[in-house]
Amino acid sequence: MSVDFRVRDFAYPVGILRLRRYFERSQWLPLDGLKSYQEERLGRVIDQAYNHVPFYRRLFDERHLKPHDIRKPEDLRKLPFLSRDNVRARYDQLRADNASRFRPAEALTTGTTGTPLRFLVDRPSNVLEFVYYWRHWGWGGFRLRDPFAELRWDYFNRRAEMVEELWHYQPAFRRLLLNSVRISRERIGVYAWALRKFRPKFIHGRPSNLYCLALFLRERGLDDIPFKAAFTGGEVVLPEHRVMIEKTFGCKVLDHYAHMERCMAVTQCPEGGYHINLEYGILQLTEEKEREDGVTIGRVVCTSLHKMAMPFLRYKIEDILELYPPEKRCPCGRTLPLVKAIHGRVRPIIMSLDGRPVTTLAAPIRGVKGVRAFQFTHEAPGQMIVRIVKGKEYTPGMEETLKLRLRAFIGEGMRIDLEYVSEQDLERDEWGNIQMVVSHVRPG
Ligand SMILES: [Zn+2]
Repeated sequence: MSVDFRVRDFAYPVGILRLRRYFERSQWLPLDGLKSYQEERLGRVIDQAYNHVPFYRRLFDERHLKPHDIRKPEDLRKLPFLSRDNVRARYDQLRADNASRFRPAEALTTGTTGTPLRFLVDRPSNVLEFVYYWRHWGWGGFRLRDPFAELRWDYFNRRAEMVEELWHYQPAFRRLLLNSVRISRERIGVYAWALRKFRPKFIHGRPSNLYCLALFLRERGLDDIPFKAAFTGGEVVLPEHRVMIEKTFGCKVLDHYAHMERCMAVTQCPEGGYHINLEYGILQLTEEKEREDGVTIGRVVCTSLHKMAMPFLRYKIEDILELYPPEKRCPCGRTLPLVKAIHGRVRPIIMSLDGRPVTTLAAPIRGVKGVRAFQFTHEAPGQMIVRIVKGKEYTPGMEETLKLRLRAFIGEGMRIDLEYVSEQDLERDEWGNIQMVVSHVRPG
C-alpha cells in the first residue's frame, strides 16, 4: 500500500476533521463504546447494501433477510462470504445504484498472485484512509506538514521518462519519493545525498525495500541518517529486516497491515502491539482454531464500515491472523484489541545481476491478460523460472512480451524461463495460499 496524498482526493476538510476528532478519542475508549460505533456504522452500510446494491438486495431476499436482521458484527454470519472471484464476476451488481453520490473512483489491487481485482473506492473511504494514516503516523510523532520520505516504484513507473530517476521531491507535500526499484550498492550514495538534502523526519515503504536501503547505507558507512520513525506496510516484516532498519535509522519500525479494498486495518504502536482499528472495519476469522493459551488463529474475513459506493460484506482474503484473547491489554494503554501475528505476504528479495534487490517481481506480470496465476522460482543466482497458469486469453505471442517486461525489472543477464503449469502445481504455504516467490538464494 502506498500513501497517496492527492489534494483532489482528500479535499474534504470538514469530514476529515470530524473523523479525526473521533479517531483521536476512540483509541482510548472502553471496548463497549467502540462496539457501539461499529454497530452504528454497520447499520448504515447494511442499509446502503440492501437499498442500493443489487448484488446484496438479491442475496438478502433469497435468504429472507431484512436490514434489521444484521445490526451487530455477529449477525454478519447470516451472510455468505464475498470472494475475490465474486467481485470479479459481479462487479456491476456490486456497484451501488447511487454510487455517484459518493464520488467513486476505480482502483486495482496489487500484491496478489492472480489477476488484479477491480473495485470502487469512494469519498467516505478516502476520508477514512487519510485519518487512518494520520493517526498511525501520529503514534510515531508525525504531524501534518512534517517532511517525509517514501520508497516506492509505481510513481516512477507511471511515466517512461521517470523510470530511471532515483528520487523526486514534491515541495507541496514536503515528500521525497525514492525509487525502490533502482536501489543498488553503486547508487546508494545518491539516495544518501537526497536524504541529507531534504531531511525527511519519517520514512515509509515496504519492509524489504527499507531493509535494502538500510543495509546498503550501513555497508558504505552512511548510517548517520536518522528518522523519528519508519513506517512499513504491504508485507510481513521479517525480524532481521526490523533489526536492520531500526539499528540503521535509530528509530522504531511502526508496521501496519491493511488492504487496498479498505475493509480492515491493523496498526503497530510504539510499544510493539498490533492494534485492530475497530473504527476502520470489522475483522473476523473463519476456519478458526482456539489454542490453549487463548490465542485464536484463522483466515481473515472483513467488512467495510466506510465504503458506500461498493460495500464489501464478509470479504474473505488469504491472510492468516493470530488474535490475542480480547482481555489482553497493551502497555500503551490503547483499548483497541491486539493481533499476535500476521501470516501472509512475505516476499523474498531477489538480487539482479547488476546488484539491485528486486522486491516487486509481480509488478510486470500482474494485469497481463490471460495470466490466471503465477509463481517465481529462483533456484540459483542468474536463473529465474516463472510458472504460469494460462487463462483463455493467453496467446503464444505473450511469452515474449512477458519476458521483455520482466527483464525491465530484473535487469540484463538473468535467464528467464517460462513454464506452463496448472494451478495445483504451484507451491503453497501451510495454509494453502500460493507463494508468490519461492527462492533458495540468499541476497548477497
Ligand atoms: Zn499498544
